[in-house]
Amino acid sequence: MMIGVLGLQGDFREHLWALQKLNAEAIVVKTVEDLKRVSGLIIPGGESTTIGRLARITGIADELHKRVIQGMPVYGTCAGMILLAKRIANYPNQYSFGLMDIVVERNAYGRQVESFEVDLPIQVIGGKFKAIFIRAPKIVECGDKVEILAEYNGSPVFVQQDNLLAGSFHPELGNDLRVHEYFLRMVGVKYAGVH
Ligand code: GLN
Repeated sequence: MMIGVLGLQGDFREHLWALQKLNAEAIVVKTVEDLKRVSGLIIPGGESTTIGRLARITGIADELHKRVIQGMPVYGTCAGMILLAKRIANYPNQYSFGLMDIVVERNAYGRQVESFEVDLPIQVIGGKFKAIFIRAPKIVECGDKVEILAEYNGSPVFVQQDNLLAGSFHPELGNDLRVHEYFLRMVGVKYAGVH
């Protein structure tokens, strides 16, 4: 089973390495043809405006809509989460895929220099996880079908809606692979993990 990491811009290589460390078969997705080969997709952090623009130009955005409706699991981190959201509160005209019933606020956790790490309790992965926030978006509204998997300072930072997973933080930048493992389980990958 092949997992894709959207590689139009942003830190897609780090996600690829994380998946490879878990012995998952993974490719960088840059075209619609690449997207057709995968059974699950990670949308990385980066610049949500750039990734969104390139996804439309390449036709990936349309194909992604089709695949998500068919049930393909997708995990958006940071800019990836912004792109999954139905609305961006502080940039209402910015394009997003609009697949998830969440409203986000871009850059709500401060600037690049104000990046931080917190030990976040995440029950679905078995406990505390060192979560790295870099110009992270905040989830300011969640629909009824959205399950909150982790909160920070009273706001959701890791959420799931059926086959869609999204988080404000960057699990690909640490050595703890449990969040990626959780996503692989959503995709239904049978693999020999490192744990
Ligand atoms: N601030 C970025 C954006 O709005 C997201 C930051 C990130 O992905 N680390 O696209």
